[in-house]
Amino acid sequence: IGRDFMTGEASSRLTITKTTSPKELPPSKSLLFGRTFSDHMLRIPWTEATGWGAPSIAPFSDINLSPGATVLHYAQSLFEGMKAYRHEDGTVTMFRPDMNMKRMNSSAQRLALPTFNGDALIECMKELISLDRNWIPKEPGHSLYIRPTLIGTNGTLGVAPPNEALLFVITSPAGPYYPQGFKPVPLHGTTEYIRAAPGGTGAYKLSANYAPGVVAQKSAAKQGYAQNLWLHGPEHWLTEVGTMNLFVVIKDRDGVTELITPPLDGMILPGVTRDSVLTLARNHASGAKRLQGLPDAIKISERPINMAEIILSSKEGRLVELFGTGTAAVVTPVERIGYNGGDVMIPTGEDGMGPVSKPLWTELVGIQTGAIKSDWNYVV
Ligand code: PMP
Repeated sequence: IGRDFMTGEASSRLTITKTTSPKELPPSKSLLFGRTFSDHMLRIPWTEATGWGAPSIAPFSDINLSPGATVLHYAQSLFEGMKAYRHEDGTVTMFRPDMNMKRMNSSAQRLALPTFNGDALIECMKELISLDRNWIPKEPGHSLYIRPTLIGTNGTLGVAPPNEALLFVITSPAGPYYPQGFKPVPLHGTTEYIRAAPGGTGAYKLSANYAPGVVAQKSAAKQGYAQNLWLHGPEHWLTEVGTMNLFVVIKDRDGVTELITPPLDGMILPGVTRDSVLTLARNHASGAKRLQGLPDAIKISERPINMAEIILSSKEGRLVELFGTGTAAVVTPVERIGYNGGDVMIPTGEDGMGPVSKPLWTELVGIQTGAIKSDWNYVV
């Protein structure tokens, strides 16, 4: 491992400075996503000349940047989003952080920012979460949202690989996404803006992918929709939902249930929840681990699907459900899609969740919160 990587040795160089003025965790009822941060943060500096420096955990504070810093001018910035959960027995675990580290390194590579040893960063994050474990609300379904970020910091204009960078991690207490039960959302089938294109950066978690989505989101909201359904090309291929991956369930003409998600063709972010849902569904289909409630015969497809197929299967009564997946809400059911001036109605189950998403959600949340044992959980 050369100096382009943060070696396993980095975590042993970690220094910890505790806050002398700890804050109060706000009451869970008043928690708004991303508004409150825990007491400490992790920082790891990098320079081209010296490689990764010693990681430090210190009180949450502002970052000093040159106004010429490349992150501010050329969006040399990428991030991750993951969660830590407290189990009933008090154990705290991170959910599949190895997947986030893999994705973060692939984002770093795409931006010519330095890559690092993901295991070493997981070790450092465990220390951070352990120190701030009181920031995980005690109520069921609550979690600590973890936001690793990597930015180019050298204060020199000119589009080039940065020779200075900063990796930092902040955390924020998060409530359950559905305090009042599942609420299916209406989507706006967006064709006037695109999130990603072939050869673009949609498959990476770059900050620059998100800023242009705000106007599209505002436009969807103005028309009464909760999120954008990003449609691609003249055929209106379904790609993603807002900042979630997308799944569709249809029955074929023989009555076999098919769980469909668009393939990782370069326009789709490889979501950790997407991968988890696919893995659980495949384990069910192969008989490795059956999930109660899921149809016995289920076909799992990573394949393109367009609006024409959605509309046809809806007309023929074969559309079963459509949902988004992501770290924040795990599963978000969809009730209708605004498209070509009308609404395509999507069936939703009695309690808001459909017959395929419900058992998958139950299993996934069971794992995340520790009720079901799994090697996807990394003990802090
Ligand atoms: N797509 C986009 C564009 C996202 O921002 C996210 C959130 N990271 C996802 C999908 C879902 O990914 P994950 O399941 O890893 O949270």
